[in-house]
Amino acid sequence: MTNIPAIPNTDHIYAFSRDAKPALEVDPGAVVIFDTRDAFSGQIRTPEDKLENLPFDRINPATGPLYVHGAVPGDALAVSILTLETSSHGSVLSIPGEGALGDQITQSTTRIVSIDENWIEFAPGVRLPKRPMMGVVGVAPAGEPIPSGTPGKHGGNMDTNTVAPGATLYLPVEAEGALLAMGDAHALQGDGEVCGTGVECDARATVSVKVIKEYGIQWPMLVNADDLMFIVSAPTLEEASREAVGEIVRHLVNRHDMSFNDAYMLMSCVGSLRISQIVDPLVTVRACIGRRYL
Ligand code: CA
Ligand code: CA
Repeated sequence: MTNIPAIPNTDHIYAFSRDAKPALEVDPGAVVIFDTRDAFSGQIRTPEDKLENLPFDRINPATGPLYVHGAVPGDALAVSILTLETSSHGSVLSIPGEGALGDQITQSTTRIVSIDENWIEFAPGVRLPKRPMMGVVGVAPAGEPIPSGTPGKHGGNMDTNTVAPGATLYLPVEAEGALLAMGDAHALQGDGEVCGTGVECDARATVSVKVIKEYGIQWPMLVNADDLMFIVSAPTLEEASREAVGEIVRHLVNRHDMSFNDAYMLMSCVGSLRISQIVDPLVTVRACIGRRYL
């Protein structure tokens, strides 16, 4: 592929907003490259660099926004992640006050790791398999701007490790042009992101964008080779879980010709609820069902 339009990582936002000035405009069907900074705006480069010294307003830059012609509220923007290349180094941080056990961390650790095509050197002699994903992918909300560190119906900081190459993320469009932005790539991140970071890195994402007219989803939906899932964020895991189950059941009723009770029972038999992250301003859960059941 040649002449793919690219948005440089210097064009970024710290809040998803319908008033943000587009970095690029394209027609539906376009393929676009997003060059993204890590969640720390590139300020963590050595073990001596500590997050607690960074200004919080430089956390989670999201490259964009991309204006997609013809996208209007009520549509879904389908973002297919074609490739996701990472930088050759990343960082993993343990920070007092951050993550599930932040109250037990008295001293911060910044670990700089090398990343090659397939592996992450987590510690001397300890290699972890690379599984790149994008932590922040979102569109502009209808109402007030939403900081890029917060997840929601617009997507945003979902920190969901299935937002990865080969997947298509469907985001509910709430503003004209959708205004897609992304950042916070991870070379690897476990479910929960329990200490508050994955392997944080710069990245280059190549994505295609399509507009699905009047699709009627309320929350981000993701489809990959195996599963269909809805990604829901709320103040508690219980609220997020109930909303995610409700959203996937509604989708099965609306799009897969099932009765509500059949969809509900099917989810109970073969569905799964997975925790995406428990460390952001809202927690994120995904309700998943194998596509072979649909
Ligand atoms: Ca994140
Ligand atoms: Ca991150």
